[in-house]
Amino acid sequence: MPDYEFRCLDCKKRFDVFITYKDYGNVKITCRYCGSPNVQRHIGRVRLSRSTPDRLQSLADPASLNALDDDPKALGSMMRQMRSELGEDMPAEFDEVVDRLDHGQSPEQIDQEIPGLSDGFSGSEDMSTGLDF
Ligand SMILES: [Zn+2]
Repeated sequence: MPDYEFRCLDCKKRFDVFITYKDYGNVKITCRYCGSPNVQRHIGRVRLSRSTPDRLQSLADPASLNALDDDPKALGSMMRQMRSELGEDMPAEFDEVVDRLDHGQSPEQIDQEIPGLSDGFSGSEDMSTGLDF
């Protein structure tokens, strides 16, 4: 079940909302604390350059990434390895992407099917290594 993090623009508090991808965009999200409709989805950034260990940077080598283009499952396992190495909280989309890669979906297909995904992944300038879903 996807778990979206929102931030209230009025009281500035963060809260999580569980909604399905099907419902995303169809359900009205209001602040859990003050009831304000002025909420903004908070999307975790995938940061690579700031704290990425050397071995991860070698994993993100463009040449090896190109080789992964035709192998979604390998890409999925690489992303999973990256997350465990980084030890950071990844956005809910990350799990969804990895799961879909495991099932053989192409990054392009995943990008089309998950709303807002591009905001979370290609929105980070640090992800210019080819992982810009
Ligand atoms: Zn609020």
